[in-house]
Amino acid sequence: MILVSSRMGCLNETNRQVVKRFILFSVLLLTLPLFIFLYIQRGGGSFLLKYLGWRNSLQTSAFLAIVIVQIVLISYVILAENWVYTKCKWIIQVKRERKRENLIVFLSFVEKSMSTEMNTCQSILSFSNNNFVSVLLSSAKKPLKSQNILFGKRKWGTSTLKKKKNRQGQGFVPSVQRKDTNLTTFQPLTATVAPPKSSRHVASSVSNSVQHPMTLTEKILSKAANRPCVKPGENIWVNVDVLMTHDVCGPGTIGIFKREFGENAKVWDPEKVIIIPDHYIFTADQRANRNVDILREFAREQNIKYFYDIKDRQNFLNNPDYKGVCHIALAQEGHTRPGEVLFGTDSHTCNAGAFGMFATGIGNTDAGFILGTGKLLIKVPATMKFVFHGDMPDYLLAKDLILQIIGDISVSGATYRTLEFSGDIISQLSMEERQTLCNMAIEAGGKNAVIPCDQTTSEYLKGRTQRSYEVFQTDSSADLYSHREYITHQLEPVVAKPHSPDNRDLAKNCSDVKVDRVYIGSCTGGKTEDFIAAARIFKDRKVKIPTFLVPATRQVYDDIYRLSIGGQTLAQIFEQAGCIGPAPPSCAACLGGPKDTFARINEPLVCVSTTNRNFPGRMGSKDGQVYLASPYTAAATALTGYVTDPRQVYDFGTEHRSAYSLVDSA
Ligand code: SF4
Repeated sequence: MILVSSRMGCLNETNRQVVKRFILFSVLLLTLPLFIFLYIQRGGGSFLLKYLGWRNSLQTSAFLAIVIVQIVLISYVILAENWVYTKCKWIIQVKRERKRENLIVFLSFVEKSMSTEMNTCQSILSFSNNNFVSVLLSSAKKPLKSQNILFGKRKWGTSTLKKKKNRQGQGFVPSVQRKDTNLTTFQPLTATVAPPKSSRHVASSVSNSVQHPMTLTEKILSKAANRPCVKPGENIWVNVDVLMTHDVCGPGTIGIFKREFGENAKVWDPEKVIIIPDHYIFTADQRANRNVDILREFAREQNIKYFYDIKDRQNFLNNPDYKGVCHIALAQEGHTRPGEVLFGTDSHTCNAGAFGMFATGIGNTDAGFILGTGKLLIKVPATMKFVFHGDMPDYLLAKDLILQIIGDISVSGATYRTLEFSGDIISQLSMEERQTLCNMAIEAGGKNAVIPCDQTTSEYLKGRTQRSYEVFQTDSSADLYSHREYITHQLEPVVAKPHSPDNRDLAKNCSDVKVDRVYIGSCTGGKTEDFIAAARIFKDRKVKIPTFLVPATRQVYDDIYRLSIGGQTLAQIFEQAGCIGPAPPSCAACLGGPKDTFARINEPLVCVSTTNRNFPGRMGSKDGQVYLASPYTAAATALTGYVTDPRQVYDFGTEHRSAYSLVDSA
């Protein structure tokens, strides 16, 4: 239940706060007359009695009776209010004298919170019959369309609420009919608040039609919403194709799912829920280990088909199901299909946009709702297009391109927008490099990233998925939020300096920065091609500083021992160079993790890392400094001990060579 009130309450006041307030009021109201009574009993009231002209105990009793009646009345009001408060999940206060500010607050609340809270509340109570609140609610008419809205007026401790008739004109369509109600008892409505039911039917006008020019993302979302077209800013219900969660957010998501849908509730589709333990795996931390146990129990209880479990932490090779970092495992296991909608309880879920799908990170509450319904209310993002032309220099990797973009537009430059990458260069990139680009869209605030599906995508998916998928392209006449073009061969290797991914500088400008360690790993920079790139630089050389290797997944780990350059496997090249690892695949120190996490920065060290974030404390110590870089730059840095442009230590060719063209046999 959501309470909108112009008379009482505080914005988002919690039930606990309301109860505290109630107790405080009650204590004050009861103690005051008690003190007066005791004062009179002890004869102290003679002056008062004399002053008031009361000469006998009858008049005193009458006075006390009035006080008691007042207490009862006020307590009744507070109790009644408290009843409503305790039934309400969200309490929205709107003050008439600050209309504009409240309108903004309310609309932002609707945008940010309604998507989930609206789905689980039973009804909305509006304790105001003034036009202002009506206008507020009608402004939010789209997300509230299927809600029951009550408008009421409070009168002396009782309230009457009545549903305003014929609100269709303002966009309100009551879902149940109900007579005027005396809400002295504050009966909640049994309104139906659920996403619209629809069969998964794709309107013919969606598929690459220019009747309603749309971007790739808009087409995917319109298909998922079963609508002929959608526009940026619209709030739409989408059917979810895949929900992914992991050991950090999974237990919280499960808790919310059970709380809202019941202990015995079943997930909407056990084949569409993917559970991948990957973050805090190889640690003795009991709470971290417990998280994986919770996932295992839930997967068993719900018959989840895709649960990539790990039981033997001592030797991960004994766990045939265990994969490693969720985003890369999703792709390798064929869960990333063009044209679909994928949500994950991890901000780098945007990684999967490389496959021409809509993929984005969500919170536990949204994920809990999806578990129960398979749907989610989202706002359609506007699209920012980034086109890469020219030639890709041999010394550049996708990591340089995305750091270039983030440096240009800043960490908030794409807030709640789609980053769509295209151009000749993007078409030539491998799927792993495309993932590196999309992975870091969130570092610019992006809602999602997307790259159109092409031959490279289809080749990658062959043998990984049996499901058919639909391919969409952005219409040439589609409205874009912005369009930015890059001449790729004019770009140079870059780093993101501490403590922000947009703190970009040329690697060669940082050559005086002494580095304590190098970290090659994560969903951004721990894929097979990242290790091939590192091995290319390390071959027949020695690192000068500790260099930690963490493959993202089991498959990457295997590739390190399988693939070779110049007759040496990558593992042999790394060993000869003096690297530490490869460690068991996981997120490891990318997110810091428990103190015993492999390669965690436990001291104020300077680290060059192929990961995606360099906020203070991200990799452990908040006094540490992290420089984000490509695998080439990271490897070059490991050889010198200073931030190093890879061109200074390696003689690159005049033509770009893809990673797999460097290995002896793939
Ligand atoms: S590797 Fe790092 S960025 Fe990727 S999912 Fe794990 S913690 Fe997140």
